[in-house]
Amino acid sequence: MVEKKIKVEIEESGDLAGEIIFEKRSKIYQAKVSGTFRKLKTIVSYLFLLAFFAMPFLRYERAGDMPDQAVMVDLTLRKFFFFAIEIWPQEAYYFIGLLVFSAIFLFFITSLFGRVWCGYACPQTIFSDLFYRVEEFVEGSYQKRQRQDKKVFTRKVLPKKILKHSIWLALSLLTGATVTFYFADAYKTVSNIITLQASYSVYFWTLFLTATTYIFAGFAREYICIYACPYARFQGAMMDADSLVVTYDEVRGEPRGKQNSHIDTESDCVDCYRCVVVCPVGIDIRDGQQYQCINCGLCVDACNDIMTKLKKPDNLIRYDTLRNLNREAKGLSSNFKILRPRTII
Ligand code: SF4
Ligand code: SF4
Repeated sequence: MVEKKIKVEIEESGDLAGEIIFEKRSKIYQAKVSGTFRKLKTIVSYLFLLAFFAMPFLRYERAGDMPDQAVMVDLTLRKFFFFAIEIWPQEAYYFIGLLVFSAIFLFFITSLFGRVWCGYACPQTIFSDLFYRVEEFVEGSYQKRQRQDKKVFTRKVLPKKILKHSIWLALSLLTGATVTFYFADAYKTVSNIITLQASYSVYFWTLFLTATTYIFAGFAREYICIYACPYARFQGAMMDADSLVVTYDEVRGEPRGKQNSHIDTESDCVDCYRCVVVCPVGIDIRDGQQYQCINCGLCVDACNDIMTKLKKPDNLIRYDTLRNLNREAKGLSSNFKILRPRTII
């Protein structure tokens, strides 16, 4: 992948003169991949999407005039309902407690398994992945998409672009509207939106969230993870050499063979770039650990597929700890420690 870089000359600052402080975005044309981690990612995203879209329509019987929506933030009554649980504004400490617990749990998971939250369960990842699947379904393979982007305004390509953006907008609208269903009776809100009798705030938030979903999942994608999400920046502090991360086995892989070479070389990497073209953040894991990596495992699937075709052992790229990589390089056995200072503190 060719990356164009913008050099910003800062004349007043001698230290930063000539430094690259912002990289111009090169669109990522992500290739399709199949395998264990792709399947896992798909299952997690379907479960998330099902829960998100269906939850406001679940009913739960309550006494008196209380709403019968199972999960709801009732702005009129100023109460949060979650099945049998009812929380008043003065009981906000429950939320604070839940947030603190969630943060600590996320730190614990990160210290054990790296950024698996980012790779599998973060809404930004799930919606970007959904939009990418629509793109791939409508416009075809990544090579085809690359070719088509050079001639958008042609009779063959333009209808595909219009179809893709229409589906993206429909999904965004559905997402935006669904969020508002959590704040008022979902069935009534649907009917009010359709008959144009909903309040201005419902239309405002639906349109606002439609726009943000469309932009974040359709265009910004990995840029949100790399530049906007603070979690990506401080995750390094939660991980250590015993965290399970996606790694490339240099001892097995180097020196790399020629691209597309199927000659049985001693080293295993044939430099086919499959691990790079399937990566949703556009990095090459063979360059080592990088803060952009969301630990999604798609490069593991891609490389395992190549290894199977070449009749070489799997897991040239794999989930492993940096300590294990060093141990294995020295011929020592690998081990995975769950309880260690980083996971406890
Ligand atoms: S997919 Fe595997 S063999 Fe191909 S370039 Fe990546 S590491 Fe090397
Ligand atoms: S390098 Fe591999 S694990 Fe990391 S983001 Fe790219 S595909 Fe996912």
